[in-house]
Amino acid sequence: MGILLAKERAHTLPELAGRTYHIVTFGCQMNLSDSERIEALLSDAGMRREADLRRADLVLFNTCSVRQKAEDRVYGNLGRLKQHRRAHPEMILGVCGCMAQREGEALRRKVSFVDLVIGTAQLHRLPEMAAEIWRTGQAQVATEMPRKRNQHLLEAEEDLLAGIARGNDPYKAWVPAMYGCDKFCAFCIVPMTRGAERSRRPEEIEAQVRASGRKEVTLLGQTVNSYGRKLPEPVTFADLLRRLNAIEGLERIRFTSPHPADFSDDLIDAIAALPKVCEHVHLPLQSGDDSALALMRRGYTVAEYERVYWRLRERVPGISITTDLLAGHPGEMEEQHRNSLRTVERLRFDAAFTFAFSPRPHTRAEHMPDPVPHDVKMRRLQEMIDLQNAITMERNAAHIGEVHQVLVEGPSDKDPEMLSGYARNNKLAHFPGPARLAGRLVPVRVTEAHIWGLGAVVDMC
Ligand code: SF4
Repeated sequence: MGILLAKERAHTLPELAGRTYHIVTFGCQMNLSDSERIEALLSDAGMRREADLRRADLVLFNTCSVRQKAEDRVYGNLGRLKQHRRAHPEMILGVCGCMAQREGEALRRKVSFVDLVIGTAQLHRLPEMAAEIWRTGQAQVATEMPRKRNQHLLEAEEDLLAGIARGNDPYKAWVPAMYGCDKFCAFCIVPMTRGAERSRRPEEIEAQVRASGRKEVTLLGQTVNSYGRKLPEPVTFADLLRRLNAIEGLERIRFTSPHPADFSDDLIDAIAALPKVCEHVHLPLQSGDDSALALMRRGYTVAEYERVYWRLRERVPGISITTDLLAGHPGEMEEQHRNSLRTVERLRFDAAFTFAFSPRPHTRAEHMPDPVPHDVKMRRLQEMIDLQNAITMERNAAHIGEVHQVLVEGPSDKDPEMLSGYARNNKLAHFPGPARLAGRLVPVRVTEAHIWGLGAVVDMC
């Protein structure tokens, strides 16, 4: 049978009509975006979302493989559903996402009561596979990756992406620009779980952003600024930003995550010049030491990273720059760690996600000699966290008295009198105000600094 497009398939599967689904999402923005795609796909097929996992006909875990802990959590959650699954023979328990891609059939050998394992490039087949299980009672596994490296997205993948135009957030859309990664950093499992880099056509992305009608869009990609170079008619990421900047009604454009080695001057100029592109870049450093970066195979030196970093700070006034820092990579010696702390001290990021190294299967780092004891790695991680927290507080405190525009998300869960919203520089602000401001762009004056963001009041002037 040839590949049916998702829209056609959605209307030809009576097995799904009237049934319910519940998706549990782990991991990154890309997984959240994939879960939105899946929701749209299943809803089009006649299924309904069920808020209570234990009442759903299809329970799907959208998983992350980036650290062992993330996988352990999924196994723990699956284990807790064993009795429930056994008591409900009609229910389908499925696993998708990076862990499903990595484990494939092995996942069913480890957890025999899982009915469906579906990889990252096969999501468009989900309705068809669920229908097959309900028809035959046979478990289904699909984890094939697109083979050719030099390609754009498959037609079926693209068709599925069109479904997320509606998404769950009324004001913001997260739109994948590209999938996969060709970089093969020593510690990272993503090229194995997400496959080779492949970009969507710019007109598809633009159409989706327009159709969403949202005020803010975040473009997603594992190395989002590598976007477009392999398309049949290559375009740059800066070209894509220029194209989206012209969309009427769209107020803000964000993107995550760029790779430092692919950050062109043209892209910096575009960020500086395009009014809708927000003043925030998340630029993963990982280590501030050249030899550690070489061990990690990151493809840049500290000096090359700094060139991009300082140019962004110089060309884009008010920009905030955040990063990822990895402590305890195999082979990282004390001196390299000290160098890394010095670099972080010099660059003064606005915030950082800090991680301890976690060995992942089929990566280069998995088999690297690693004489550094676990407690030393944990101590290094803590030193990095303490340093960055102090810098984050100072950076946030420097905003006190400033006025920032926030996109109001709505009342806080804990206190209905308090609203929250992100400033253009991606700092979270909490401030008192009426719920009717939700979805509006509102100026707020910063009154307090916290590690998590800013306390503020609505600016009436
Ligand atoms: S650039 Fe490196 S860390 Fe980022 S997804 Fe690709 S391999 Fe992983």
